[in-house]
Amino acid sequence: MKFKPANNIQDLQYFGEFGGVNPSISDSSTYTFLSAKTMFDTFEGNADGCYLYSRHSSPSNLYLGEALAAMEGTETANVSASGMGAITPVLLQLCDSGDHIVSSRTIYGGTYAFLKNFISRFKIETSFVDITKLDIVEAAITKNTKVLYCESVSNPLLEVADIKNLAALAKKHNLKLVVDNTFSPLSISPAILGADVVIHSLTKFINGSSDTVGGVVCGTQEFINELRNVNHGASMLLGSTMDSLRAASILKNLRTLHIRMQQHSKNGLFLAEKFEADGLRTVYPGLESHPSHELFKSMMNTQYGFGGMLTIDVGSLEKANELMELMQNRNLGYLAVSLGFYKTLFSAPGTSTSSEISPDEQKTMGLSNGLIRFSIGLDDDIERTYKMINKCMTELHVIN
Ligand code: PLP
Repeated sequence: MKFKPANNIQDLQYFGEFGGVNPSISDSSTYTFLSAKTMFDTFEGNADGCYLYSRHSSPSNLYLGEALAAMEGTETANVSASGMGAITPVLLQLCDSGDHIVSSRTIYGGTYAFLKNFISRFKIETSFVDITKLDIVEAAITKNTKVLYCESVSNPLLEVADIKNLAALAKKHNLKLVVDNTFSPLSISPAILGADVVIHSLTKFINGSSDTVGGVVCGTQEFINELRNVNHGASMLLGSTMDSLRAASILKNLRTLHIRMQQHSKNGLFLAEKFEADGLRTVYPGLESHPSHELFKSMMNTQYGFGGMLTIDVGSLEKANELMELMQNRNLGYLAVSLGFYKTLFSAPGTSTSSEISPDEQKTMGLSNGLIRFSIGLDDDIERTYKMINKCMTELHVIN
């Protein structure tokens, strides 16, 4: 049976305290108990339905977590204050000092910096590999490897991970496959394809209004319980908890994600095809020229398309900057990092979201200076948008 992530969200039914159509927001950091015994049991984690303290859990956070778990097809989920607040506890929970991680080399710059510069301080080493080459991935696995880490569609190069085969590799070597699915919500369902843990930065498409940061870890009840454990849970002890008010607002935005993703994808494909036809080096998983186009097709929940992210290479950083400034002046979008907004956002990753990666390493992984990453907006008239972008490109001789 085909997996229907948006139906799973739609089918959840919650009511507010007074019959409201949205669940009531739990505007409390702490909770009262009628008996001291129940408080003790709750601390020990065995008093279902009782809340103790909002760093541990809160009704609003659980509602949002439940909806995201339904979307990803996992048993449960834990929301966090940011995407990094989801990624870092997962890796710290799964690895002890002396352990090893095999990670895709093209990942979000913050995650890369965490692996390379931060978690290494605790003697957890990472090998960065080309995730599209399964033999290279397998060759990097050592007896100390605990985690295989990747993004379904990578930031910023839009490489596509072969999640089914990576999951098989993880199983063979007794590793956990952790997949950051921030770039492809609804389109790709990593847990259904075999990933053990699925992470999102909710900051991006899922919330979709660029008004907050947020994150989530989707996984088994056992793993999420571990993350939340009061004695040794990394989410609980590092404390990157989401605020209840935000959980409530993200839940409301999540309900329109399927419509927004379809529009982001429709516009993304339209522009990618046009840019490519104009002779620009264009990367978009929906283009036949993308090396993993067929792989993406084989994994995707078709109706949500190939996503809203695309890159073009305009040859030099100077040209990229000129073009982005002109596009912003003409109100075609914003020169800003992040993604998933109603307006198109564009940035040059080498000097922004991937600046944590050294110039040499950027070169090895194929991240060139002239690369512009676009998060395509929800424009109703994408043909008009294209014509205006085309005019900018022509004026600046990006195209002839
Ligand atoms: N994962 C990906 C793919 C990202 O692009 C980002 C942020 O840009 C993150 C994780 C980190 O999320 P946050 O900024 O919400 O901490």
